[in-house]
Amino acid sequence: MPAIIAPRGTRDILPAESWKWSYIINTASKTMTDFGFREIHLPVFEHTELFARGVGETTDIVEKEMYTFNDRGGRSITLRPEATAGVMRAAIENNLCAQGASAKLWNWGPMFRHERPQKGRYRQFYQIDAECLGISGAMADVEVIALSIEIFRRLGLKNLEVVINSVGCEKCRPVYRQKLVDYFSAHLGELCETCKDRLNRNPLRILDCKKESCGRVSDGAPDIFDSLCDECREHFAEVRSGLERLGFTYTLNKRLVRGLDYYTKTAYEILSGDLGAQNAVAGGGRYDNLASAIGGAKIPGVGFACGLDRVALVMEEQGCSFGEMPAVTVYCVALDNESRGAVQVLTHKFRTEGISAECDTSGRGFKAQMKSAGSCKFACIIGADERANNSVAVKNLSDGSQISIPVDEAVTYIKERM
Ligand code: AMP
Repeated sequence: MPAIIAPRGTRDILPAESWKWSYIINTASKTMTDFGFREIHLPVFEHTELFARGVGETTDIVEKEMYTFNDRGGRSITLRPEATAGVMRAAIENNLCAQGASAKLWNWGPMFRHERPQKGRYRQFYQIDAECLGISGAMADVEVIALSIEIFRRLGLKNLEVVINSVGCEKCRPVYRQKLVDYFSAHLGELCETCKDRLNRNPLRILDCKKESCGRVSDGAPDIFDSLCDECREHFAEVRSGLERLGFTYTLNKRLVRGLDYYTKTAYEILSGDLGAQNAVAGGGRYDNLASAIGGAKIPGVGFACGLDRVALVMEEQGCSFGEMPAVTVYCVALDNESRGAVQVLTHKFRTEGISAECDTSGRGFKAQMKSAGSCKFACIIGADERANNSVAVKNLSDGSQISIPVDEAVTYIKERM
């Protein structure tokens, strides 16, 4: 029988990599706290309707990429393809934004999309997500963008580009949409099959198509900035001046529309020059209509999601530091079988005192134990003599020196030399 392997597009994050992920998550967590965001934990599956109505029926995510199934009660359930809709659902359900209150929330975890796997693109991938709910002013957009930039600054990422756009609101977007339909209808023959199909359902997404011929047509498409209503125009100007006040540089890209329908006004992405085709390390923007789309009162929101898998890839490629790799400080070694119990007691003592310690639990001999101790700072050796006089031989593995001390003093001795 062939061994069972992980499904396509998923992978195991093994210890050699997982400590690096912890570093990224801890750095993000501290930055979120510094910016006043608080952590929440959400279900990884939700009612399918949340994404159908929230993300948008005509988006690639909802049309082609969701992991949807009926549970045993016959309800349609979907593994979350993104976090924002779930955060908004939780805010509405738990009244976090009642009476005009605002909430700054962050979370991280796996998302699921049935996409074609490639470098930096998986079917189960991980996002670090921040959402600021209940505030409609542009300062919130600036704060969210600044937060994402600051996480990357702390992680040491270089060669990043912040790209921003405004996608308008329910007042001005229909006008722009019609302009696009008129324009693209006149160039139908030059569009790829997918974009032909998008023409009447979601023409904004044509702007985002990566195919060269569609790109050429899009270059000549009407400019969104000419269609923005006064409110959106003013909002965008405030976002831009806010970013400039904080000293950030950014690029404008009128073709940045992003793949989710709920965006209004600000849309942005942070791109890395070191990722190839899947070059976005984070994306986000404002979504003032999401709450009403999923049946809540009107709650404005702005947020971003950053791709943990991709951030780790870029950091690796750029040689960024992941801090110190966790290492075991002390290895406790039994000289003979009779000493194994005493060794386990000492190991446990170190561990409960917050000193990382390891010992052999599989009955291996002295030599094999010393070999395992090789990557530690100290070996604490116990044999018949040590047991007889309640001592332990402490070998400093970096200089080879060894002394005998009372076993009761071992914790203090190691703590002073860690
Ligand atoms: P989105 O929710 O599509 O705006 O994506 C936000 C971020 O999540 C992107 O900028 C990527 O860094 C990351 N991301 C999205 N889809 C994938 C995927 N299939 N595999 C890995 N990372 C992804």
